[in-house]
Amino acid sequence: MARTFIEKIAQKMRIIPDLDRERSSGSTGELRKYPSPDDWHDHVELDAQEWPKMVEKRYSLVPTTCFNCESACGMLAYVDKETGEVSKFEGNPHHPGSRGRNCAKGPATINQINDTERILYPLKRVGKRGEGKWQRIYWDQALDEISSKIRASLKTEAKDRVVYHVGRPGNEGYVERVLKAWGVDGHNSHTNICSSGARTGYSLWHKHDRPSPDHSNAKVILLTSSHLETGHYFNPHAQRILEGMIDGAKLIVIDPRLSNTASMADHWLPTWPGSESALFLAWAKMILERDLYDRDFLENWVNWEDWLNADHPDEPCTFERFISLLLEEYEEYTPEFAASECRIPVEQVIEAGEAVANAGSRLSTHVWRSAAIGNLGGWQVSRTLHLLNVLTGSVGTEGGTSPNSWSKFSPELFDEPGDPDGWNELHFPPEYTLAHYEMSHILPHLIRDGRGEIDVYFTRVFNPVWTYPDGFSWMRMLEDEDSIGCHIALTPTWNETAFFADYVLPMGHASERHDINSYATSAGKWVAFRQPVLREFARREGKDVEFTSEVNPGEVWEEDEFWNELSWRIDDGTMGIREHFMSPYREGEKITIDEYYRYTFERVPGLSEAAAEEGLDALGYMRKHGAFLIEEATYSKHEQEGWPTPSGKQEFYSQTMVEFGYPEHAIPHYRIHSHVHPDNLQGEDEYCLLPNFRLPQHIHSRSANAKWLVEIGHRNPIWIHPKDATKLGVSEGDLLKIETEIGWFVDKVWVTEGIKPGVIGCSHHIGRWRRSQDQGNRFLSNEVQIEDIGEGKQRMRTVSGISPWKSDDPDTNRIWWRDGGVHQNITHAVQPDPISGAHCWLQKVRLSRPSKEEKYGDVEVDTEKSFQYYKRWNEMAKARETHPRGERRPMWMKRPLSPKKKHWYIED
Ligand code: SF4
Repeated sequence: MARTFIEKIAQKMRIIPDLDRERSSGSTGELRKYPSPDDWHDHVELDAQEWPKMVEKRYSLVPTTCFNCESACGMLAYVDKETGEVSKFEGNPHHPGSRGRNCAKGPATINQINDTERILYPLKRVGKRGEGKWQRIYWDQALDEISSKIRASLKTEAKDRVVYHVGRPGNEGYVERVLKAWGVDGHNSHTNICSSGARTGYSLWHKHDRPSPDHSNAKVILLTSSHLETGHYFNPHAQRILEGMIDGAKLIVIDPRLSNTASMADHWLPTWPGSESALFLAWAKMILERDLYDRDFLENWVNWEDWLNADHPDEPCTFERFISLLLEEYEEYTPEFAASECRIPVEQVIEAGEAVANAGSRLSTHVWRSAAIGNLGGWQVSRTLHLLNVLTGSVGTEGGTSPNSWSKFSPELFDEPGDPDGWNELHFPPEYTLAHYEMSHILPHLIRDGRGEIDVYFTRVFNPVWTYPDGFSWMRMLEDEDSIGCHIALTPTWNETAFFADYVLPMGHASERHDINSYATSAGKWVAFRQPVLREFARREGKDVEFTSEVNPGEVWEEDEFWNELSWRIDDGTMGIREHFMSPYREGEKITIDEYYRYTFERVPGLSEAAAEEGLDALGYMRKHGAFLIEEATYSKHEQEGWPTPSGKQEFYSQTMVEFGYPEHAIPHYRIHSHVHPDNLQGEDEYCLLPNFRLPQHIHSRSANAKWLVEIGHRNPIWIHPKDATKLGVSEGDLLKIETEIGWFVDKVWVTEGIKPGVIGCSHHIGRWRRSQDQGNRFLSNEVQIEDIGEGKQRMRTVSGISPWKSDDPDTNRIWWRDGGVHQNITHAVQPDPISGAHCWLQKVRLSRPSKEEKYGDVEVDTEKSFQYYKRWNEMAKARETHPRGERRPMWMKRPLSPKKKHWYIED
């Protein structure tokens, strides 16, 4: 390309290099996509900071995986060989899921590890819990004190009083194995505020509880979610959706909010929250009426005969009669009915429905969070969505939707302790017979109701005080030492829950820890290795490292090694725990972390062979490449494996639902109206608050210290349609008071046509806080004051917003934003779905102009009201509690950590 006049002068004056000369001499070479892994330990780049001088910098590129959402995209850490520090993160092109690409949160890992406020040393509280006073202790002390508390609890023979409560898991089976070694039914998760609604719907069909859509090869991509851009498989799915669209696929997005994804869609259907099942059933009817169903798949792989035998015993049990009876059953689901429930034009129902009906085996569908976790009966959304895949025969096909477990690798572990000998009723209370995961969001209420206590409670990368609904009830529970004997927060960074801990133990970020990852991000199956990059760098440089804490900043450790050491110390020689932590390679000696991963990787199909071709062993291959593709594609596995349900087929008809007291939900239907259905709102004075969409730049608890991400997103205004804004007399930036069932908050409005009239939105992120006695996250947290105003009422007021401060990082002094948003989740009542157990996030709210005393960011909650409100929802489950054959829950359904079979019976 010809140089401009200015460039020529600049070249002559040597302000910029002589690019023409360099090109002709070949000294800069061609642009390269990525260096070969063989060169990763000696990679040379020009130092951008030195421009225009050509100064070379030498790096060791170490693969690891991102930990900022579940996708576990591949990253390459650029370790500066001169300083031994990580300079930046880029994508790992050899990772089959992410293929070299990351979203903004991946490279921002560098902000997290360089956060000047991160927790660098183990801390123990002094003073009262929550008072904010801490003393630095050594790991030895922490291990000794915590292990003795666990030992004391285990010696009582209780199996439910030592609990590990996880936010972002990020590993495969590590801690579940540890808990089994301790013999406790002590696994709790965040899943019931996240995905368990959708999981229940999928599980009823085929036990597998998540979908794996093959977007790249689809003809129609149907998304019931804003979640694509904000969490689950964001980057891996986004790139495959674009591939599908480039090849001509149509994108349909169902969302009351114009998400980034919806803005790219061929059809955006802003349905009324909770009406999605009516839409899917109308489309199911269209497929049936037009004979566009896949007869072969339906006839052979679906338990249609069970339905006829149960509900139509006098009818001939023929496939033809099944179809005609199904059409009669679904008669009411006309396009007009769907249009009226969804509050969208009927033409839109028909137009998008025609695309779905004609997709054949190339219909890729997905629902994550959103509608399935928002509504009473939200599990029906995935149940009816999957019906479309079943009817079109797009289950397990190229371009269709497969069960996620087909594409997920399950590691073989070096030692499998027996199942726990007990059942934790605080996690799986008997009335929630079909709860797909632990009832974690009602834990404070169950404890307040006298249904149990906890001796030792680990919160690990988990921040319920802020993330969950009804956070004041969490604070109240955590402050009570009779309810929670000891609280240990395992976290890389400060959070609102860690403020109420007894011990805060610093754990590594993505590049400072080991994990195995495998997720169904595409049609193939892969395994990836999250490794502490400075440990691998040290190994490449010929240095021995015993524990990852030796190379991490301060005394930041990693959980894997922590669990091993803690387990070793719990056992006083009489408890049989140590035998589960012995090296599989060295008789009678404690396992090392390298041995743990060596054992698993040696058993990954095809990995050792691929490694041998490079003269490596399996662990060496994973250290070098960071990921391995096990299978290119995992289609049609049911043809060999069948379906793991009681009938061995896709369960259109669920005998399980009948037996567990819900016969009206035996087949997919639209029989539960959401708690935010217009019939359940009081006219136009009540609105539906959509609080569960996320911002693409943020994760729940660990991005408030990532300066690049915070600079992009740091506010959470109320999305309101112009019609509603006019009705309420508010305009852009005005304050609005949002009253929930248990309290209220004051936020600013953003007037936009990107939200459905009658619905208001507020992003699930933002509104982080700290009190004057707390520390950390100053890029994104407001300083607040919390007051007990009597009779169970709590008030939170913003004392000051975001402001710059001086530190070793000059950027902390350059912060230009002042508004840290509003903590809305804390004003939400818990709403446990009686069937799936999922928290129904959507809230019925009233809107008004705040009084003069009510300021931006103010929050008030009545915790007495919240307890009573919980009781009302809990009654819905109690009213239907039934245990066929004495089973606590269906024996064939999954549990994350399964106790011995005898405990699955209510009278064990
Ligand atoms: S999509 Fe998730 S795993 Fe991938 S880079 Fe973004 S945050 Fe990290």
